[in-house]
Amino acid sequence: MTDTVTDTPMSSPAAAARQARLAAVLACPACHAPLAGTSQESLACAVCGHAGERRGAQLRFGGFGDEELKADALNRIKELVKTRFHRLYPTAIKVLSPVHDRPGLISGFLRGFDLDRDLVADFGCGTHRRDERIICMDGGSYGNVDIVTDLRRLPLADGSLAGGVSIAVLEHVPDPDAHIAEMHRVLRPGGRMLVFVPFMQPFHASPYDFQRYTEVGLREQFGRFEVLDVKVGAGPTSGMVWVLQEWLAMVLSFGSCRLYRAVLPLTWLLSPLKLLDLLLVHHPMAAQVASGFAIEIRKAA
Ligand SMILES: [Zn+2]
Repeated sequence: MTDTVTDTPMSSPAAAARQARLAAVLACPACHAPLAGTSQESLACAVCGHAGERRGAQLRFGGFGDEELKADALNRIKELVKTRFHRLYPTAIKVLSPVHDRPGLISGFLRGFDLDRDLVADFGCGTHRRDERIICMDGGSYGNVDIVTDLRRLPLADGSLAGGVSIAVLEHVPDPDAHIAEMHRVLRPGGRMLVFVPFMQPFHASPYDFQRYTEVGLREQFGRFEVLDVKVGAGPTSGMVWVLQEWLAMVLSFGSCRLYRAVLPLTWLLSPLKLLDLLLVHHPMAAQVASGFAIEIRKAA
């Protein structure tokens, strides 16, 4: 999923303002004791001793090791492109990806916040920065990331966020319940999140891929929240095109994995078909084979 992407040096005034707001809500990811006011290199918890570290403006409390990020061939390529061309990566995905997001899905949700006042975080931002005022959190240490962390153990105080987005992340974790419990902990009462997850999408490890969700399955998964809305986040054509590309690459590679990897990029020529979803995303039966769903949830006040 892509949306507006900008990336500026950590030293910009906007970044400095964001870091200052973040410093006020920092907490130990292990015991949740406040870390506010700690200015030392090592962000050590005075209560339990659990320590993070600062790398420039980036705060590191764990996250993926290099081995995990480079675990499979597709992911090695993605990581290379993300690292070398990380500003271009979201644009490349937007053009070449078989998935067409519902227009304005994320930006529309974010407009419901006053980002100068409401602290909002991106849970698993990857290389995206959707707004200069949003806290970017990810397991990977990309240049745009404010907090490199295990998303099940966030270095944030209870109730510190007004909102958040989690876009195409939960399918990549083995224990979505633990991630959702942590979202619930760091949201303030009345705080809202937008979560996108896939339904009809081929296997795509980044660096792992564990599950898909139906509409009712998604409502069940977020049972601890008030569910405000579930909508098709990426339509039926997106669901079909990606499967078709994988199928074509398989049929035309005659059992050879090497040939499959050579043919697959050629099938990306079919990706523009996804634009049919501009219409089909609104079809009343679109949920039957939607590429993915977006759920908007609220923590009870
Ligand atoms: Zn602690």
